[in-house]
Amino acid sequence: MPHELPKTYEPGAIEARWAEYWVKEKLFSVPTPPPGETRPVFTLLLPPPNVTGRLHMGHMLNQTQMDIIVRWHRMRGFLTLWLPGTDHAGIATQMMVERQLASEGKNRRDLGREKFVERVWEWKRHYGGAILEQMKRLGASVDWDREYFTMDENLSRAVREVFVRLYEEGLIYRGKYIVNWCPRCETAISDLEVKHEEVAGKLYEIRYPVIGTNEFITVATTRPETMLGDTAVAVNEKDERYRHLHGKKVLLPLMNREIPIITDELAQPEFGTGAVKVTPAHDPNDFQAGLRHNLPQIDVMDQNARMNQNAGAYAGLDRFEARKRVLEDLRAQGFLVGEKDYTISLGKCDRCGTVVEPRLSTQWFMEIKPLAEHATKVVENGEITIVPENYKQIYLNWMSNIHDWCISRQLWWGHRIPAWHCSCGEIIVAREAPGKCTKCDSSELRQDTDVLDTWFSSGLLPFTTLGWPEKTRDQEVFYPTTLLITAYEILFFWVARMIMFGCHFMKGHKQDSVIKQAGGWCEKKDDSVPFRQVYIHALVRDAERQKMSKTKGNVIDPLEIIQRFGTDATRFTLAAMAAPGTDIAFSESRTEGYRNFANKIWNAARFMFLNIDRVGLDCVAAGLRPALDGAKPRPHTGIAGFQPVTLEDRWILSRFNRLAKDVNEALATYRFHEAANRIYDFFWGEFCDWYIELIKSRLRRAEPHNALARLVAGEDPNKIMAELRSNLAEVISELGPSRMADFRSKMEQFCKLLEQHSPKVAWPEKEFDDEMSKLRASVAADREVAGVACTNLLALFEASLRLLHPVMPFITEEIWQAIYDGKPPLKSIALAPYPQADEKQFDPVAETQMSILQDLIVNVRNLRAELKVEQKLKLPIQIFAHDPQIRTLLEQNINAIERLARVDNVTFVDESLSNLPASRHTAAFDVHVVYERKIDVAAECERLKKELEKIEKGIASGQRQLSNKQFLAKAPSNVVENLRKQQRELAALQSKMQGKMQELGCS
Ligand SMILES: [Zn+2]
Ligand SMILES: [Zn+2]
Repeated sequence: MPHELPKTYEPGAIEARWAEYWVKEKLFSVPTPPPGETRPVFTLLLPPPNVTGRLHMGHMLNQTQMDIIVRWHRMRGFLTLWLPGTDHAGIATQMMVERQLASEGKNRRDLGREKFVERVWEWKRHYGGAILEQMKRLGASVDWDREYFTMDENLSRAVREVFVRLYEEGLIYRGKYIVNWCPRCETAISDLEVKHEEVAGKLYEIRYPVIGTNEFITVATTRPETMLGDTAVAVNEKDERYRHLHGKKVLLPLMNREIPIITDELAQPEFGTGAVKVTPAHDPNDFQAGLRHNLPQIDVMDQNARMNQNAGAYAGLDRFEARKRVLEDLRAQGFLVGEKDYTISLGKCDRCGTVVEPRLSTQWFMEIKPLAEHATKVVENGEITIVPENYKQIYLNWMSNIHDWCISRQLWWGHRIPAWHCSCGEIIVAREAPGKCTKCDSSELRQDTDVLDTWFSSGLLPFTTLGWPEKTRDQEVFYPTTLLITAYEILFFWVARMIMFGCHFMKGHKQDSVIKQAGGWCEKKDDSVPFRQVYIHALVRDAERQKMSKTKGNVIDPLEIIQRFGTDATRFTLAAMAAPGTDIAFSESRTEGYRNFANKIWNAARFMFLNIDRVGLDCVAAGLRPALDGAKPRPHTGIAGFQPVTLEDRWILSRFNRLAKDVNEALATYRFHEAANRIYDFFWGEFCDWYIELIKSRLRRAEPHNALARLVAGEDPNKIMAELRSNLAEVISELGPSRMADFRSKMEQFCKLLEQHSPKVAWPEKEFDDEMSKLRASVAADREVAGVACTNLLALFEASLRLLHPVMPFITEEIWQAIYDGKPPLKSIALAPYPQADEKQFDPVAETQMSILQDLIVNVRNLRAELKVEQKLKLPIQIFAHDPQIRTLLEQNINAIERLARVDNVTFVDESLSNLPASRHTAAFDVHVVYERKIDVAAECERLKKELEKIEKGIASGQRQLSNKQFLAKAPSNVVENLRKQQRELAALQSKMQGKMQELGCS
């Protein structure tokens, strides 16, 4: 049965099919293994994309790297779990649905909380998780049976459990503090969710009159509207300038409120005037000072940053409008004494871009120090390694400066805080809704309206996705996860928090000791960590190294690239450019190049199949069966079934093993670019351009040379005869007169044989008998040689496909399946063993010899190019070998030299050729190409004559047009001008041709 592979490589036609097959066959599902599992385990958690997400280049890079590493582990025999899911993404999702409501003329308050949340779930059912569908199309080899959503009931229960435990441990508290407040989103946000921007602003100097004196104290601020909420002015105790004012009061302008002058370290003598206004409700430092001095906290704004009733005459104004009015009034009343240009670090909401307002509000906080200490230690002492290493220090610096985390959000979508308020003031934190107040027995309890920061729940995922708080077998097997691959931008949001939570809640956890040992982890290794290693990947930028942004309009849509070049080529591009710590400048031309690479592989596969079918090789029986040990792939070294017979065999086998060594080493250290580029160079260069070319002569021996040989080989004589007749004309024209006679006699002989012995071929005459058995033996020997060459080609190709599979999963699956004609030994190449180097198959001698041979061929090719020798023409060469071994080597490979360098005769000489023109000198040999330009005069005259006829026809037709008055009247002037120009050019060509013909003496 012939092997089927469509003529042209069309990724669109194969990729969707395999993507679907992998999911349908549940190839990457990992059921929980029972105790006694002895395989090493590899676990990787997918950074959960937002349920609102759409695939962008960042995801594409992230997922390509993860899939490469995951497939690589799976093929190496690890029990490999890649766990997928989506995040409910509090603010983002709520905004999405609010926008939808707005288009219907409604807002969330019109619906009420319950209806709104229902509406979000409905949105999620309809549109959520589209990104996971996109992932399936990319071939991401995740376990879809374990897909989770952060608001699933079991994960939500785990979130409540964590909250309650931390509360009981005193690590969660509620209090009134200054938080970052987004007036648009109407919620508190964490420090991490505030993006700072340097902008040009002003520093305003305002003087406050000191009561009972003629003096003023001058303070400075960038937000003058907050002065309406001032409750003190602070000076430093050591500042002599203000010593006489200690204990006095100032009259707050505009508000006419008496406020004290206090001494506090908030005021630094060396800064500005040394005096500062204190606004405890609107600034975090002032808030702390306020607590120290028991100052009132006057909040002058509402949740939308409009001035409230505490702002006196300014109530109802937006904060920026109020700023303008306050300045006008201060100026008019003589209190504004200075305005200076000043660079402000303006905090904006990461989600919506609104300027964040520090706001006093009651929130839930998590005390971070105790958790941070442990999370610092595990990174410091290498329990968790961070790659590239420079991120380790960044992480540690951040950890040492960490503040308590505001975990409550004033949103409706998310995990609602498990706290219930009683009218008696009691707050009950519980896993499930309590029936009555623990203090006053009242049953009138209402649940806290806040939800938790989304990162609170995603920080728990490494263990909650494995069944926590129950102690599960899944945790014993898969926790700690092995690796996390993620972007730098969520190092603090997510990675740091997973480390804190993991170390805290999985303290004392022990991984199954057999599995731990199989994974190569030392017994003492801490199993509370959420992962043993973090790999931080770079950014994808545009071809000009610009950061992609919607405003710049340079965003590259990965799905569009995939549409055009295929997923495999897109993945290969990202892998080939992904040097650790280096951003990727994504260029389409690279992807186009890798599509050509896929095409090259495709064509090589077609060539291989052609030969397999010709030789009649049984691929399944060819010894390729990826070495199986029961159902489990076992470590696989070298290439099974490969028989190194010739120099090129020994050489390619050695090269392949070196490649396998390099690629495995590169992947182990996330040098994706090295792995990809090594495979590319091997496949395209060594394998396709050299090895396949070199073995062609052996493969061709399977082609029956002539009708006689085919007859001997057992082909149907009638079929041969029919073919001969139809090809006769062609064959005769190719042979030329000199070989015609020979051919005719052979034909006659053949026809006679046919008549005598058709249909069964048996040779009665003794003479013929002997002749024919010789022929039979030679045909059989040829087939044997071709068979070995073909088996080697197949074995090498199959192993190379496995090596490439993690980077280009689709094309490799397609060709691999085609090899086995629908009877593959495994359901997928993804389950076959990954090639490992067999150092016994390294062959430095063959590599050295081959490099000399390649060097010779390349030199002859270059000389031919310099001499501008026509492609078809074969030339003689002379070689001076620098030692007898080299001469022997080259003599043994004359055939390869002749074919690959288009040489028709090789002469070995005994003296240097380096003084001759058209020669090269290397350490091993001198080579000289013998070439004089010879021209077949008759043929050249014929060619020139034809050229000339064509030109003359063109001239005649142009002349006809130019003498046509109607044409001249109608045609636009540029058309006429072009025609005239063309005529002049044709005339020039005509005389050139005539000149040449004269030179050659053509008739
Ligand atoms: Zn916002
Ligand atoms: Zn109560």
